[in-house]
Amino acid sequence: MPSITVVGSVNRDLVLTVEDLPRPGETVLARGFVEGVGGKGANQAVAAARLGSQVRLVARVGSDGEPIRRALAAEGVDLDAVLTAPDARTGIASVVVDRLGENTIVVNPGANAVLSVDDLPQWLARTPGEVVLVQHEVSAEVVAAAVLRARAQGGTVVLNPAPARPVAAEVLAAVDVLVPNLGELAALLGTGPVSGPAAARELLERAELPCGAVVVTLGADGALIKQPGRPGVHLPAPVVDAVDTVGAGDTFCGALADALARGADLPAAAARAVRAASLAVTGLGAQSSMPYAEQLDARAA
Ligand code: ATP
Repeated sequence: MPSITVVGSVNRDLVLTVEDLPRPGETVLARGFVEGVGGKGANQAVAAARLGSQVRLVARVGSDGEPIRRALAAEGVDLDAVLTAPDARTGIASVVVDRLGENTIVVNPGANAVLSVDDLPQWLARTPGEVVLVQHEVSAEVVAAAVLRARAQGGTVVLNPAPARPVAAEVLAAVDVLVPNLGELAALLGTGPVSGPAAARELLERAELPCGAVVVTLGADGALIKQPGRPGVHLPAPVVDAVDTVGAGDTFCGALADALARGADLPAAAARAVRAASLAVTGLGAQSSMPYAEQLDARAA
């Protein structure tokens, strides 16, 4: 069974659906409300587990974290390295989604901010090539330690630098596959806004990042793969009826990690991730719309 360690956040997602997103100072009535498990770490862990990987999550929840543990355990995620922060509450994400699927999100990190370098298990990659997947919803110190330790242990390190913040060059150099969206890519390279596959390709061909490879997610445009010394390759997304893009990036990262852990090469893994994420945007919610292996395979057939 392919094996993955995810180091990241766990949140309670409070999702409100509205007609139009409120403007500053405006109050609008919701058309619906659901509560679920979220956080980039938990989401990416569930995305990979649904596709058949054995996934271990390294994270912290708060004293109110029991229902979240139960939900993640039901998804088959190994929670041995999920610790409880007794004095904190589990992170909360307040998500508002409009009728076009556009969203705004406010996150209170809660217990995620308490996750420390000392909480990281000694072994992140237990066998060479095991995938270790990290995002930016925990501290920069934890990200750096996880990336460097995983790399030293021979793991394949995937970093999703979301939300955007600077990454030290020595950390980037230990990353095998960096997976930013366009906004995060622009932030990392210190450029203005970038849009579309052609602009992303041109940018990455001009300014090479010191990591193994970059896979830029492009929303409805799919993804762009840039490996050092090779031209960028655009992978278009299937045309779908997008209902809610919350969790699209997380589905992408989880599916990419699952495919890499199975030994797929980067173009094949990214192509599968594009398909998985495009399925996820056809349903409401982050985790509830993440595909299972059979659904994804049925689409590919
Ligand atoms: P989010 O923060 O909403 O989770 P993101 O900004 O991290 O998303 P995106 O680049 O928007 O990530 O999307 C990730 C992947 O999801 C894309 O590479 C694509 O495969 C799929 N996707 C997103 N939006 C659409 C869409 N409208 N149609 C088809 N596929 C989509």
